[in-house]
Amino acid sequence: MSTASFALLPSTTPAADVVRDNILAAPGFGQYFTDHMAHVRWTLDAGWHGHEVRPYGPLTLDPAAAVLHYAQEIFEGIKAYRHADGSVWTFRPEKNAERFRRSARRLALPELSDEDFIGSIKALLAQDHTWVPTPKDAADECSLYLRPFMIASETFLGVRPAREVDYYVIASPAAAYFKGGIEPVSIWLSSHYKRAAPGGTGFAKCGGNYAASLAAQKEASDHGCGQVAFLDAAENKWIEELGGMNLFFVFKDGRIATPRLTDTILEGVTRDSVLTLAQDEGLTPEERPISIDEWREAAASGELTEVFACGTAAVITPVGELVTEEGPIRLKADNGNPVAKRLRTKLLDLQYGRAEDTHGWLTRLV
Ligand SMILES: *Cc1c(COP(=O)(O)O)cnc(C)c1O
Repeated sequence: MSTASFALLPSTTPAADVVRDNILAAPGFGQYFTDHMAHVRWTLDAGWHGHEVRPYGPLTLDPAAAVLHYAQEIFEGIKAYRHADGSVWTFRPEKNAERFRRSARRLALPELSDEDFIGSIKALLAQDHTWVPTPKDAADECSLYLRPFMIASETFLGVRPAREVDYYVIASPAAAYFKGGIEPVSIWLSSHYKRAAPGGTGFAKCGGNYAASLAAQKEASDHGCGQVAFLDAAENKWIEELGGMNLFFVFKDGRIATPRLTDTILEGVTRDSVLTLAQDEGLTPEERPISIDEWREAAASGELTEVFACGTAAVITPVGELVTEEGPIRLKADNGNPVAKRLRTKLLDLQYGRAEDTHGWLTRLV
């Protein structure tokens, strides 16, 4: 397979070392960006072409660009991790590449090959690797968050799949996503708003899903919660996921369950990795429907011992309580979330190269 090479247009105004070092000392999340971005253009006639790494900066879009009106857009989220020897790695990028193609098909966007998806990340990191923060210790979850995305850039207000599309990768140094680290979070159960419906775009990683979740997110924050949990649209009964993370339920007898994949659930790479790591740990993973009644009853009886959310940005985060219109659902006893913590440590040790990569999940970038 041939890998298209990315032409380099170097930035004439890269951040000075001292500026970059100051940013890397306290990067927060999603606020600062590296010196360059990767770009590939697609047109109906020419296909994918114009592979380049160019200075990071504003895009020039016609006000009639289709994405601004009809939200024909998809994205990915993946991280680059610096290992103790200075090398830089990413985690299961072929899973993100495959999901990006699934999302593209649903949004009637052109599919990008693994070679271009992973190649664009490698090309960007070849320039901007000094932006990957170095962890101070095993508790320092810093990384470079990578955001590949694809937009319908054709100037046209008619409603049909765009014939001109642009793909970019931008990169943003990141500290831990939740400031509290592994402090349990409170989640709001949205009883009115739905994230996804059968036949819709729930399984695709598209901006529209996030736009549709923001009113519920606001409701959550009005109730003192950081995240929203959504129920299914058809029966208002089955747990699906959070606005941007998958959910796991740990039972006293060693079962660990997550909602089975449907077209209303986003197939998380972290979710898939947790299922494998749980099996390695001697737990019994289950992918099945889980109802809100089961959550309430198993929490009250003590059968359910932990609930956690997972995703690339926040890794694994215990859920302390589910706040609902009818009052909070809390676990019978707070056991300190040992399973969530163990799985979290296993995953981070793998990603940061502190544990042997027995599943072949790491790809070297630099
Ligand atoms: C990205 C995302 C996730 C988590 O996926 P990861 O690949 O684990 O980062 C879960 N749910 C939604 C809705 C998402 O957009």
